Amino acid sequence: MPSPSKRLYVIYAGGTIGMQQTSAGYAPAPGYLPGELARIAARTSGFPAYELKEYAPLIDSSNLQPAHWNAMADDITANYEAYDGFVVIHGTDTLAYTASALSFMLENLGKPVIVTGSMVPLAEQPNDAEQNLVDAFRWACEDGLHEVCVAFNRLLLRGNRSRKLWGAEIGAFGSPNYPVLGRVQGHYEFNPALCLPKPTRPFRAHRINPDLAIAGIKLYPGYTNRLIEAMLVQPLKGIVLETYGAGNAPDADQALIAALGSATARGALIVNCTQCVSGKVAMDNYAAGSVLSRAGLVSGRDMTPEAAIAKLYFLLSQPSDTLGRAERVPVSLRGELGAD
Ligand code: ASP
Repeated sequence: MPSPSKRLYVIYAGGTIGMQQTSAGYAPAPGYLPGELARIAARTSGFPAYELKEYAPLIDSSNLQPAHWNAMADDITANYEAYDGFVVIHGTDTLAYTASALSFMLENLGKPVIVTGSMVPLAEQPNDAEQNLVDAFRWACEDGLHEVCVAFNRLLLRGNRSRKLWGAEIGAFGSPNYPVLGRVQGHYEFNPALCLPKPTRPFRAHRINPDLAIAGIKLYPGYTNRLIEAMLVQPLKGIVLETYGAGNAPDADQALIAALGSATARGALIVNCTQCVSGKVAMDNYAAGSVLSRAGLVSGRDMTPEAAIAKLYFLLSQPSDTLGRAERVPVSLRGELGAD
């Protein structure tokens, strides 16, 4: 542990990590995790001091809603000056969305915010929960970290690059388009050159509008203009369209392309992300891609779909300024996408 004098603020939102078996399957168990965490702290040398806020109700993160992001950002903001770092204990199902959302909402973050969870609850042995907690608390004391990260299975990942890729493995999370920021191999190894620089401007937090109508659509053979037109009956403000390969769609389906074009013409911000696990969108590579750029879609480049959804919530909640929202999509705000 780097410095036993550090003090952390901990948000416990729910997740498998603190669940117990019930007749309906695993469910959150209020009050259980804080007691276990205190026991872990007592037997781990150099464990930092912390204050923990348990959310009520604790949730299976499948129930996460954008309003929870506001609550988390508010709690971090209210405690920002008083603590050296932050840990968010969260279910794994939507953890990558939360890590992405917090990264955008917490601007000029000068302290670590580490999101973690586990695949096996603390209540079962063996589990990955204790190790993930110890690692998250350790990383949250790291002086050189000024961003939202995910600590999982001995890895430290940039939050807005992380994805839950494997549903049945202890190493559930990966960062397919960006190297890991740190790992534990006997000791804690961390690569500051890969991390965001210390901000020079004061920290400020943004809330998002949880009622924005944002859709995630995955293309597949058979997806037609009728499906998108049915969705556009809603006042959709933003869409993350997961396209094929380098950002391609069926350019032979003129009705579908026209439906996308009329959505952007009506003001919807449509971000083109690839449905490949890694790689990036380059809409000018193929005729099947450039047609989307002409239809007004903006490139999500190598952003994960989770980061793209969170970025839309963030951008569409901000007042438009000199650089419009569409222009900001392919620009890195928090290290969520790479250079060409
Ligand atoms: N369903 C759980 C959740 O996301 C899964 C987990 O935490 O691993 O809350």
